[in-house]
Amino acid sequence: MSAPQVFGWCPGALRPMMSGDGLVVRLRVPMGRLSPDQIRRVATLARTHGNGMIDLSARANLQLRGVTTDSHAALVDGLREIGLVDADLAAEARRNITVTPFWQDGDDSHRVAQALARALSNDGAPVLPSKFGFAIDCGERPVLTRTSADIRIERSAAGLICRADGAEVGQSVRVETAADAALTLARWFLDTGGVTDGRGRMAAHIATRGAPVGSDTAPLPTAPVPEPGMTPQGTLLGFAFGQTTAESFAQLAELGALRLTPWRMVLIEGAAPSAPLPDFITDARDPRRRVQVCTGAPGCRQALSDTRDAARAIAAHLSPDSDDTIHISGCAKGCAHPAPAPVTLTASHDGHFTLIRHGRAGDPPQSAPLTVTQIQDRRL
Ligand code: SF4
Repeated sequence: MSAPQVFGWCPGALRPMMSGDGLVVRLRVPMGRLSPDQIRRVATLARTHGNGMIDLSARANLQLRGVTTDSHAALVDGLREIGLVDADLAAEARRNITVTPFWQDGDDSHRVAQALARALSNDGAPVLPSKFGFAIDCGERPVLTRTSADIRIERSAAGLICRADGAEVGQSVRVETAADAALTLARWFLDTGGVTDGRGRMAAHIATRGAPVGSDTAPLPTAPVPEPGMTPQGTLLGFAFGQTTAESFAQLAELGALRLTPWRMVLIEGAAPSAPLPDFITDARDPRRRVQVCTGAPGCRQALSDTRDAARAIAAHLSPDSDDTIHISGCAKGCAHPAPAPVTLTASHDGHFTLIRHGRAGDPPQSAPLTVTQIQDRRL
């Protein structure tokens, strides 16, 4: 088995990434919000210029799959018409912001995120590694703590703080100063050697160098990851295995505007859906929620097996008495769940997976390669 390849950058709309099923075009949707018209238009564009499959990433971005080099320019034109493309590549690369989906018009998260997006669009904004990102999470309790980000604006007992990822405490800020503080922290990261060969993440830097001076305020305790169903801000609907089709995505426009979340769910603003939506998860006990699965073959060129069909088949035979997470990975890289999981199934070759308990996808296998049927029989 060859070692998985590590890419040092993330795809965008203007710089897509070639994958096993064509180009992946990732949309950094401003404030993570799509109006009903934008939902319909994105669905049409995904069908017209891609293969119609739409992913929801772990940083609350949408990915349109199966785009061809010939269709990419027309897709970008269509996305630009509905305000989903930045002015240029540099602006797109810098605007790597995840916002709590529970923001409200004019609240702290909204104001800080808008100010940070403006600050990052300036020519003098720091040039950061491609995976370096910001989390704006100023609700009553942080909800994005488990979401990948390098600089976090969060709430403390006394107000807002700007915290380097990996540090336990941050610097007190106000709504008006939070964006500047975030950029100052980003410059500190650059100036203190956080980047090597164009790559670097804040938590790794903090681990070797310690937190910056002036950080002394802890964030409020993290809120649990929300579950599908009603919330005070609307209804959370899960994407089974993090993916849906353009046809199913277009159905969401009938329900209202949506917010993208990093939990493989969308938040429908307002009322609950009145009709059943079989392609989406509406029940927290749905067994598909236990399964974390990566793109796998044919979408990922590093994959040693299909993963999503395997996930569907395995999810249909899970034990009703367990709620352990099951991580299905197309190779040892473990993109879908980098942390250890109670059960990990790592592809060894086509249609076969080795089992690892309480480990990561790249850990030594604890079983011989198993077929999907053999895995089903284990009633995980
Ligand atoms: S873990 Fe999955 S998505 Fe990531 S590189 Fe391996 S096969 Fe591809």
